[in-house]
Order: sequence, then structure tokens, then C-alpha cells
Amino acid sequence: MRNNILSFLFLSVLLTGSLWIQPNKVSACERCITAGVQINQELTAREQIIPLVADFGATREFIQDELHFFESRDVVTRYAEIRLDDRMKGSGWIRKNDHILVNLFEDIKLEAHVQRAKENVNGSFSITAVLPDGAGYMVLATTGSRSLGHIFMPGEKKFFKIISDPDTYKHYLIEMDEQDRDILESSPPLIPEEIHEKDIQERERIKNQLKEDDLGPGDVANIGVMVVYTPQAEHWAQTNGGGINNVIAISMANAQLVLDNSQTLMLATLVHSELVSYQESGSSSVDLMRLTTSPDYTPFGADYIGYMEEVHIWRDQHRADLTAIFTLADDTGGMAWLLTNRHGSPNRAFSMTRIQQAATGYTHIHEMGHNMGLHHHADQNFQPGPTNWTNWPDNKWSAGWRWLGQNNARFVSVMSYSGGQYYPDGQNATQVPYFSNPHVVYQGNSTGDQVKADNVHTLLEIKHVIANYRPMGHAGVVTADATNITATTAESGGFIDDIDGLDVTGRGIVWNRSGNPTVNDNEGMTTDGSGTGEFSSQLDDLQPSSLYHVRAYAVTDNSVIHGTHNMFSTLVAYEPSISTVLVEEVTISTALAGGNISFDGNVPVSQRGIVWSKEQNPSISNNEGITKEGPGDGQFMSVMTDLKPETEYYYRAYATNIMGTSYGGQFTFETIGPRIYPNPSAHELWVEFKNEKEGKVHVVLASLQGQVIKRKAVENQGEVSVFFNTSGIRGGMYLVYVEGDTSFPVMRLMIARES
Ligand SMILES: [Zn+2]
Repeated sequence: MRNNILSFLFLSVLLTGSLWIQPNKVSACERCITAGVQINQELTAREQIIPLVADFGATREFIQDELHFFESRDVVTRYAEIRLDDRMKGSGWIRKNDHILVNLFEDIKLEAHVQRAKENVNGSFSITAVLPDGAGYMVLATTGSRSLGHIFMPGEKKFFKIISDPDTYKHYLIEMDEQDRDILESSPPLIPEEIHEKDIQERERIKNQLKEDDLGPGDVANIGVMVVYTPQAEHWAQTNGGGINNVIAISMANAQLVLDNSQTLMLATLVHSELVSYQESGSSSVDLMRLTTSPDYTPFGADYIGYMEEVHIWRDQHRADLTAIFTLADDTGGMAWLLTNRHGSPNRAFSMTRIQQAATGYTHIHEMGHNMGLHHHADQNFQPGPTNWTNWPDNKWSAGWRWLGQNNARFVSVMSYSGGQYYPDGQNATQVPYFSNPHVVYQGNSTGDQVKADNVHTLLEIKHVIANYRPMGHAGVVTADATNITATTAESGGFIDDIDGLDVTGRGIVWNRSGNPTVNDNEGMTTDGSGTGEFSSQLDDLQPSSLYHVRAYAVTDNSVIHGTHNMFSTLVAYEPSISTVLVEEVTISTALAGGNISFDGNVPVSQRGIVWSKEQNPSISNNEGITKEGPGDGQFMSVMTDLKPETEYYYRAYATNIMGTSYGGQFTFETIGPRIYPNPSAHELWVEFKNEKEGKVHVVLASLQGQVIKRKAVENQGEVSVFFNTSGIRGGMYLVYVEGDTSFPVMRLMIARES
């Protein structure tokens, strides 16, 4: 898989993603949110600091039966049952540049900056967040109701694990020493000895493709990664390791963290993962050779043929540049083929990683590093680097590095062994998520050396070769990253290069949720003009909470060319959040009230208004009246009409979107009845009532004996207000009534005169 990503498209985004951005200073926890209550209202405030853990159980220092599933119980210093904040568990809440309050037990509260939050093709959702100055790394993956993660603080040698019980799904936070992580050093990389005819063909294909693409170190390379796993590995992961999909997600997030930290401008994207029906042999090198052998690539002989052949079909189908197998190994931490040819070795792009450490350390990316030509530290007394390239004589820098940080803490890069027994000085070191790079500093010192240890230099030169092992899409048609993503819409677009001088007569974007969308097989597409150059596209009618595959396309005279492959996830959609605005004006038959929509639920509000009834809980389907103010959000006011006089009504505001209808709080009001005022009256009198009669009625002012003093005709229907001049009437008691209207009671009026 490769992406010829032109810098204007999203290079800048990736660059900022790899740098630490000083978080906004927000005092203590005043903007922290407790889970549950008022969550929707807070969503729009993107500067929120979201706590990692919502609830803690009691902290315990001695292992109880609770952690029966956890294999390294003897190294636990303390643990507690926890409940994670729900927003950590799925896409839609956490985004890049958010801040997470990493609250560990009662005594540790740190602020981490979200570097990546992504949904993976295996159904997992992963978050990577970094503490200031690389003081720590938080990686969390969630699949369904199980989360798995860790917080690694290399300088303090601390490691916190978040893991779930396989039966109860209770989650635990565990603290241990970072050196107690059950990590075996990996085995020496295997160096291919013979050249197969197929290797030569593949290198020619890649060379030709690269000539056409004209990509350099400043262009992003997207490496497609497939992970397969044995039944034994799956079983271990389900029972002891927090779930296989979470283990894979964490190993990929760790790989991306290393690529980001080291400023490689590379993406490692999981393109597929699947259980392979293979009985582990007990020898990791045998397993790796059997995985590498395909029906048309058989360099190791008969003992290795006929195993896991489906993996090679999946690899082509899902465009995986690199493939890893996770096994329940006990003979090594990991193993891989070392790339020694600068034009690539697609047939050897295979590695194995011990499942027990796939989610805990950097083994998987270490092994993929070997697949890309990176080697161990040059001073190791066992299997030292650098890579001895067959056709890159000046490259003596493909090796790992080891350096002193602050307080004399000793660190090694991902490709270097950490154990002191491998070095002349015997000093142990802590492995941190960096490839050696003399231009990147960690804890006060360079993470590499220009002459002896610059694995990133090698990656910058080789990454497009690797990404061309199984290219996905034509590099001349670049799909832009999706932006302005909502639950149902997004924006994308593309860039069409001058492709062999072809006329581009049509262009646009195609998408689906199953992968590899084309103009003939998609869930949606746009048509956005013609010609080469940049264009933008609007994607509508998407489903919430879904992973979408997107490709730009270009129609030429001869054919349709599909571009590079991108993925994005639509936001989770919710029902809108609305509060009722209280009644302001009430008459005999009308009332004015409203609603305030504080959150549209990530999808447009299609209808909003007020419902009312004499019964409690009026709804859009059960009411005596409803207003419809149409689409929109924010505050609105609405007039309730056709109400009965002197009647108590229940009312509430409502808002509807595709997820359903929400209501504001329920309140009551009472319509006023017919009335006369002022009473006593001296010179003037108003009579108000609702005329429900067809045609004329009369309002009468009469003496107590029934003699009519004044009589006025009313022709209007509905609410009426009738005026009488009472100046000429003698003081005393009178009656006011409406002829023929029994709902208007006979009222007593006092006319007051100054004595
Ligand atoms: Zn190694």
C-alpha cells in the first residue's frame, strides 16, 4: 500500500501529529467531567480534559484471586478494579489534540495529549496519548466491552496495565516495574542467503513503479500491515491478554507511536487480521519459514511447503506490504527476515512476534524494522548491527542507539537490545518508542548518531520501496484525508496528477464500508468535474459510527483509475439534547414557550417544537397539540394555540434527528379564564373572553335586578376584548355576562365613585 501524499494535502497534519504540543494550561480539574451527567452539553467544548478512569475500587497491594487470569501476578505492586470513562471506548468522543487526565490510583494525575485516535479494520478503537516531554505513553484499545492498555513511564521505570477478566469483564489497573513485563529479547534476524528468481522480478517491478511515482523522504508512505495469529495465540490473548483484537490494536498503535516519535513520515495501517489454522511447531524459525513459503515461493524445501497458504491470498487481497504472525512462542520474543537489498524483498516481508509481549512492548515494530532493513546496536556482543547491505555500500548507519538521559537514566532505541549482558559495560537500559535518529532528542540526548546509528535515515530512503510491495491504488490519483467529519457527512477530495498525458474526463470520490470501493461497487460516489489538479468532494448520507473506505477516481479515455485508499470513521450519533424554555405569555387560549437545543447529536435536527396535553408526558405521538418549527438548533420560541380557558396544561420542548426524539423538562401552566378588569371600575372596563360561537354575540352590563345598562355586539371569533366606558354609570354593584354563552360566567362588577 502506498500513498503519494502531496505535502499540501495532509503532510502538515502528520508533522504536527509527531510533535509534542504543550497543552493549554487548565487549572487542576475544574473542567473535568464526571461520567454520565450532562455529557452531551460538554461535547462541543473540545478543550475538555477527559479523565481516563471514572471509578476506582479499593487499592490492594497483595494479589487476591481476582487477578487469577493475569500471568505475572508476582510482579504486581498494587492494583484496583476500575471503570474507564465511557468516552475512552469508542470513536466520536476522543479526538486528536484532546487532553486526557491520566488518573492512576489516588496519587498520580497527569495530563496527556492525544496524538492518535482511530478505529481499526478489526473492529477495535485505539487511543495513543503522550505525556509532556515523552515522560510517558498511554495506549488504550477497546473492542466491544473489553479494553486493554498501558501507561509506560520510561524515566521512572513504571508500567501500568489496564486489563480485563475474561469471564466477568471487570477491568483492573495494575502497577508493576517496567522491567517486569515478561518480555524476551527477540532472536537474531534471519538473513536470506539465496536469491530466488521471483525476488528479481519483484525488484524490477518496484523500481519501475518508483520511477513513475517520483516520491521522496518528505512524502508520506503508508505501510499496509497484516497480522495473523494461531489458535494458541488467540486462546492466550482471550484468557490472559485482554482479547486478541485489542492485542493487535495495541501492537499497531505502538508501531505508529515509534514511527511518529522518530519523524519517519510513515503510517503503519492494519489492513487485515485473521486466525490462521496452523499448529505451532515449537520452533519459531520453522513457523516463520512456513509462513514465508507460498505456492510459488519455496526457497526452504519440502518441510516448509503447504502451510498457511491462505495467508498469501489474504495478503494480495488486502494489499499487505508486511505480514506478521503472532504465536504462543517460548523460544524467542520475535523473529524476522532482515532486508539487505535496497530494492526490497517483498517475498521476505514476514515476521513473528510472541503474543505475550505483542501488546506490552515494541517487539512487533522491532521485527517490522528488520523487514525494512533496520538492525541492532553496533556495540552488541551478540548479533550487532548495522545491516550489511548487498547493494548500498555507503549505508553503515542502519543500527540502533543507546544513550544517557536525565538523571543518568539509560535508554535504548527500539532496534537495540536493552539487557546489560549484551553490552561491554553490562548496564541495563530502558527501551523507548524511538528508532535511532540523530535529529530527534529524547530526555536531553540525541536518539541516534549520524555515522553509526540512523535507522530513520534508512527508513526515509526505503519506505516507498516497502509501500510498493503491495501498492493499493494508483499513486497519480491521491485521495485526500477526510475532514469535517460528522455522524452522517464528511468532506474529502483528491489530487490528480498528470497521468501519462491522459485526458481526465471525470473525477470524484467513491466510498463503502467493506473496503476497496470502485465506481462499479460502492455505497456512494460523487462527480466533481474533470481535468487534473485538486478537487474537493462532499460525502453525504453516511451511517453514524462506521468505518468508511474512500478512494478518489479519475475517468480517462481508456479506463477508470482508482486512487490511494483512505479510511475514516463517522462520529457516533446521539439523540439531540434539549431543554424547555418556560412559558412567557399566557392568554385564554394561547401560550408562548420554547426550547433550547444545546447539542444536535452530531447529526442535523430535522424537527423541533413544543408538545402539550392535559395529561402528563405529552410526546410527538401522544398530545393535544404540537408545534413544528422545522430543522435547526439553538433556541427557538413557539406559540401554543387552541387552548381551553382556565385549564392546566403539561408541556415540553422536543427535538428530533435520525437517532430519535428527545424532550426537555416537563412544566405546567394554566390558561386564564374570561375576565373583566379593572374591577372596581371607575371610567373604563375591558371584558375579555373567547368567542367560540358562529356569528354575533352580545356582552351585557346589567343591574343586579337584570336591567340592561349597556349591550355591545361582538362579531369576531376567538379571543376578543370588549371596551365599555363606565364614566356615566352610578356607583354600585352590577352584573357582566355574555348572552347565550354559558362558558362565560355571570360576573359581579363594582363601579366606584368618589364620595
Ligand atoms: Zn532483532
